[in-house]
Amino acid sequence: MIKENLLSVEQCIIEAAKKRQATMSKKIKLIAVTKNHTVAEMREAIDAGADTIGENRVQEAWEKYGQLDRQVAWHLIGHLQTNKVKHAVKMFDFIESVDSIKLAETIDKEAAKLNKIQNILIQVNLVKELSKTGIYIEDLNALLQDVDNLSSLKLQGLMFIAPNLDNLEQVRPMFKKMYTLFEKVKHLHFHNADIRYLSMGMTHDYKIAVEEGANIVRVGTAIFGPRQY
Ligand SMILES: *Cc1c(COP(=O)(O)O)cnc(C)c1O
Repeated sequence: MIKENLLSVEQCIIEAAKKRQATMSKKIKLIAVTKNHTVAEMREAIDAGADTIGENRVQEAWEKYGQLDRQVAWHLIGHLQTNKVKHAVKMFDFIESVDSIKLAETIDKEAAKLNKIQNILIQVNLVKELSKTGIYIEDLNALLQDVDNLSSLKLQGLMFIAPNLDNLEQVRPMFKKMYTLFEKVKHLHFHNADIRYLSMGMTHDYKIAVEEGANIVRVGTAIFGPRQY
């Protein structure tokens, strides 16, 4: 089933990408979100063509990382506490959930110890009332400037988790706003960043996210089925 699901999500991404404006990138990275799924399921997805996986908890990812005998890119998509940074930096190709100066500086310090350049995205909080994580728009500039001075980080874009609303058309304007913000950030002058990714869209909203300009989508349920908690 995982293989069929993966192919069907990939097909939906292609269809949604056809509806994009000409100026938007047509290349879209699919992250197979494997939180609460087994290493065997991860292998199945990777063997069916998934090349990037997403996990939201460092502890769970660390256990799987030791067991997964496959080459794949790892993205951290969940909130990161500073006391978990050391492990996160050892394992993740991308940390998508950077949302504070303190966290950025801690990641930079741990990456420097490993002689690693850590790829990161900044997670944005567009609607304060509806989400707890992500940096507020009014604090984004300060974080961008700080990150640009941290030489063991490479900022590659923005990440957004849309609130879980029944009416998806209420989410669309948020995705539009994120795309505008992404374009704005892309044109700022950095020494140390290469802004090219906009990560947004999950199982219930990835098609809309792609239509509105996401070039990373993070999909779990549509590939692996519902999670057992
Ligand atoms: C769990 C999770 C996803 C995937 O969610 P689905 O609804 O299962 O596709 C995407 N992004 C983040 C940040 C998540 O925690």
